[in-house]
Amino acid sequence: CGIVAIVGREPVAPLIVDALKRLEYRGYDSAGVATIENGALDRRRAEGKLVNLVRRIESEPLAGTIGIGHTRWATHGVPNETNAHPHFSGDVAIVHNGIIENFASLREELVADGYAFSSQTDTETVAHLVAKHMKAGKGPVEAAHEALKRLEGAFAIALIFRNEPDLIVAARQGPPLAVGHGEGEMYLGSDAIALSPFTDTITYLEDGDWAVVRRAGVEIFDIDGNTVDRKSQKALSAS
Ligand code: GLU
Repeated sequence: CGIVAIVGREPVAPLIVDALKRLEYRGYDSAGVATIENGALDRRRAEGKLVNLVRRIESEPLAGTIGIGHTRWATHGVPNETNAHPHFSGDVAIVHNGIIENFASLREELVADGYAFSSQTDTETVAHLVAKHMKAGKGPVEAAHEALKRLEGAFAIALIFRNEPDLIVAARQGPPLAVGHGEGEMYLGSDAIALSPFTDTITYLEDGDWAVVRRAGVEIFDIDGNTVDRKSQKALSAS
């Protein structure tokens, strides 16, 4: 399973799919990509191999210069298109690897708040939780931070927001997550190999880190919201 996200200068969906191919070795049962185009979130998802997603995107192209992609190894909910990531709630789109251990209680709380679930995944609770904080008036970064404080388990997460075409929020607690530095473009991937066609300058998130990624660069924080200093490094060339 794997995560890729790009905030770039050209249409990102094909780049994201290519990067996901470099994560295929991890195994997966379905895949998907979401982008923002003209202030709207859009996505393509497919059960099975990445070639199915490629065909979906070929028949219905996905524009947009910011996006998130995912290969899923189902833990909660069968591997089908409905449960495939990205998941949406309001203005929020999410991809997630790992498990949200307290998803059942979060889900109960969100259902009581009137949120309707369209998948069986633990992941969708996080999308609704972030959307709930935004609905309460918080900006996307603050809403994401508030939601992250509630999550238990092991996860790597990437979020984009409908009205924010220059913002990816990422978080790591367990599964690895690497930020790649480009020229006016930034990348996120489960490992440096996924990002090797784009850049070899990598900053690894550490456990408990979350990051605000924009075209101009990355800021990394701890769960209390303090800035943390993570050095970038040259990844070993994979090609
Ligand atoms: N727990 C999530 C799901 O079942 C993510 C699984 C994964 O790591 O791909 O959808």
